[in-house]
Amino acid sequence: MTGVGVTLEPAPPLPVSAGTHVVDVPETAPAPARAGDPVGAFVDLHAHSTASDGSEPPEMLVARAVAVGLVAVALTDHDTVAGVAAARAAGEAAGVPVIAGVELSAFDTGGEVHILGLHLTSPERLAEPLSVFQETRVSRAAEIVRALNDLGIPVTMEAVLAESAGGAIGRPHVARALIAGGWVRDHREAFDRYLGADRPAYVQKHRLTAADAMDLIHGAGGVAIFAHPGRDGTLARIQALAAVGLDGVEVLHPSHGAEDVARLSAIAEHLELLCSGGSDWHGAPDGARALGGMRVPAEWSARQDDRAAALYRFAA
Ligand SMILES: [Zn+2]
Ligand SMILES: [Zn+2]
Repeated sequence: MTGVGVTLEPAPPLPVSAGTHVVDVPETAPAPARAGDPVGAFVDLHAHSTASDGSEPPEMLVARAVAVGLVAVALTDHDTVAGVAAARAAGEAAGVPVIAGVELSAFDTGGEVHILGLHLTSPERLAEPLSVFQETRVSRAAEIVRALNDLGIPVTMEAVLAESAGGAIGRPHVARALIAGGWVRDHREAFDRYLGADRPAYVQKHRLTAADAMDLIHGAGGVAIFAHPGRDGTLARIQALAAVGLDGVEVLHPSHGAEDVARLSAIAEHLELLCSGGSDWHGAPDGARALGGMRVPAEWSARQDDRAAALYRFAA
């Protein structure tokens, strides 16, 4: 692990339970393990870095994966693939495959939905469309700042940009700038008074449809997974998404209770969708949101990779 510039700690044992949710790996007839994947091998298919709102750089993702003994790890930053190259280079040096991924914020008839793109063979195909969304986000933030200025609050775009630290800019960063300037006490007040829907500084978000998000992911050679569906993961909603290209469902996630896991695995089996899972790591050193905390079987990742190869890959 030299050359990555991070210090490794001794590997802690993987937690058997995930915080208060004891999640059993659902019995959805796992595919036979691949040659090379040790039996009982685990992966983590949902993690963020400083390329979006994580607290650790992409290289640290790999260092943590090594430390907890994962056989592969996916980097799935919000609306960007900017960290993928660095994570992959670190993964190559450390001998841990890094799965190129992304987490897109989109909308379907049920509201906002996060779609994970995994096993992207051509992540660079997402760079340009996603940079357009980034510009849209910056112009939306600028509109919010103008609205606040009109309300007599002299917050500046510079202050908001400083809060976002180069990541995907959004209302939470405006809220932080408002707190820093002393105009509101906390995040809640910022949204209740100014930033929430129907409040005076609310500006409509550019809406990427879930179908378009999945098209983008397929165009980059990956599979599209409904991220952390939780209670919104009803049969009707998942069926509707599957009709426009959904490939799988995130069954294991720290926000899911045992009922969610059972329902989502049953729906995945019924609709013949892929299973996925991950810690949604943002840098947490321990607990259910620590990297590897969800104990996702490596077979799930192998199946996803096979599906992506069969459906969405192109001749080189
Ligand atoms: Zn999400
Ligand atoms: Zn996430």
